[in-house]
Amino acid sequence: MEFNILVLGSGAATPTYTRHCSSQLVNICGSHILIDCGEYTQNQLRKYHQKIQGIKMVLISHLHGDHFFGLPGLLSTMHLLGRTEPLTVFAPKGAREAIELLFSVSGTVLRYPIEFKELDCSEPTLIVQERFYHITAFPMQHSLPCYGFLIVEETPLLNLKPQARLLYNMTNDDCVRVKNGEDLVQEDGTVVPNSLLTLPPRQPRSYAYCCDTAFDESLSSIVSGANLLCMESTFDEAFKTMAEERFHCTASQAATIAKQAGVKLLMLTHFSARYRDIGPLLAEAKAVFPDTIAAEDGATFCV
Ligand SMILES: [Zn+2]
Repeated sequence: MEFNILVLGSGAATPTYTRHCSSQLVNICGSHILIDCGEYTQNQLRKYHQKIQGIKMVLISHLHGDHFFGLPGLLSTMHLLGRTEPLTVFAPKGAREAIELLFSVSGTVLRYPIEFKELDCSEPTLIVQERFYHITAFPMQHSLPCYGFLIVEETPLLNLKPQARLLYNMTNDDCVRVKNGEDLVQEDGTVVPNSLLTLPPRQPRSYAYCCDTAFDESLSSIVSGANLLCMESTFDEAFKTMAEERFHCTASQAATIAKQAGVKLLMLTHFSARYRDIGPLLAEAKAVFPDTIAAEDGATFCV
């Protein structure tokens, strides 16, 4: 089942030639979820051949411009392209008012409905429950109300043992029922226990997004065991004081969270425009947590 992340922007507050402001497109089982929408996000969607109308929902971590200023333009483009499907937007308080004001003064009347859902929680809270995945929002430490997101697959179906289908002459419907945990009832009434037919499913995969936040070790338990953790690492340790003042993390601090959380892979993102080469940040993080990679605009990562 598909579960991947396309990085649309991996820079911090100001874009550079190679890094745009924060945005990612998550594809989980065919559902396209946009996380953050910095300026130029819609251009990046075009550049990387993504269907703008295919976006099902938008998650905005906080209302700083580098995470939010691309949203009005994207919503307007969806309208101009003829969207009629509803769109759900999760964002902190103020997003709805800002968007509605912009559309009011520009005489924009959307032809599709937007359902704004306000993020306002002091502990991890389930915000989306779909058939194949769920999403939890959790508060982070930043200069504005800011939320991280944890996207988790639902437990996959059981796996049929090799030869089980042939051995017991199972129909397609039998297979579906057995993979969902039922015993097999054969035509003569014989019951074959599910345990004879199936193997355990693989572990559900999870993706955690933490951007922007000050160093906060309590995040470790929330993102514990994630297959992929995306952490902001705006600065290196030489700018640790500035990171604290601005409620951001250093690469080393991001890696500390990853290590404490026991995640499988850490992806650094949200690099300050001061770094032309983020190699030193990557090295700093790898010294703490070796399984670290750096986000790049246009790169896709499998969860
Ligand atoms: Zn930011």
